[in-house]
Amino acid sequence: MPPIPDVLISEVGPRDGLQSVKATMPTADKLRWIDALHAAGVREIEVASFVPARLLPQMADAAEVVRHAITLPGLTVMALVPNRKGAQAALEAGVHKLTMPVSASAAHSLANVRKTREEMVEEVRAISDLRRDIAPHVKLEAGISTAFGCTLQGLVPEDEVIWLAAQCVAAGADESGLSDTVGYANPAQVRRLFKRLRAELGDKAGAAHMHNTRGLGLANCLAAYEEGVRTFDASLGGLGGCPYAPGASGNVVTEDLVFMFEASGISTGIDLQRLMDARAPLVAGLPGEPVYGMTPEAGLPKGFVQGASHV
Ligand code: ZN
Repeated sequence: MPPIPDVLISEVGPRDGLQSVKATMPTADKLRWIDALHAAGVREIEVASFVPARLLPQMADAAEVVRHAITLPGLTVMALVPNRKGAQAALEAGVHKLTMPVSASAAHSLANVRKTREEMVEEVRAISDLRRDIAPHVKLEAGISTAFGCTLQGLVPEDEVIWLAAQCVAAGADESGLSDTVGYANPAQVRRLFKRLRAELGDKAGAAHMHNTRGLGLANCLAAYEEGVRTFDASLGGLGGCPYAPGASGNVVTEDLVFMFEASGISTGIDLQRLMDARAPLVAGLPGEPVYGMTPEAGLPKGFVQGASHV
């Protein structure tokens, strides 16, 4: 058995990344990409979103992608579900973990899903009950989006973020993480909010989902790490870009995040060279789509030896 890594890198490119590009990646390329990520040592992947295909044609093959991903040994296969209906389809396809986005910004929640935050907590409860009835081993995560600010509302009160995360756990979520959906977060704020989240939820405090819109993605991940966070969302090649800042990546770039941790002696379980090789099926499946990342551009430093953690 390989040693347990110090941190878990949760790859969100096949869902979060693909959802924000216009082109649709062919299913065969998606499967090759997921295989390459797994071969590099990635052990949690958000592979799809269970939404109506007419809204998101990129995700029309969600069930097929899940059925393939669950054959990869040791991989936790996660899917985003916006509601109970999506959760039912994801559970039927065989996912190991559901993630449900719940917006901390009252304005964003209404604009995005036409529901109040309280109504979304009830949706978390409905999904949790469904999961308990038909697939009790499946984990449920509530991802608190716009936790660090919102393009519609601006400031999102920290008390409301922590309140909402606690409500989601009380409604049945196994964990609640915080997402910097629009790239407003700074390290001081990240420390403050994750400290409060961990004080409130203990080991039910979940992942940090940071964006690199203003160049602070890695700094924010490190700040979260120093507050005890051990699961980090990231996207290979920073796929998806940022709709609010042309030319900037949206999600934290997986390659750069893994380099930061490994260079610091914090093991990820991921082989950096093989991770960078996993770009090939991504680029092949989405010709012309920009990919980001400083480490893949610059290459690994001379003499860089990855810790004993790699696969
Ligand atoms: Zn994201």
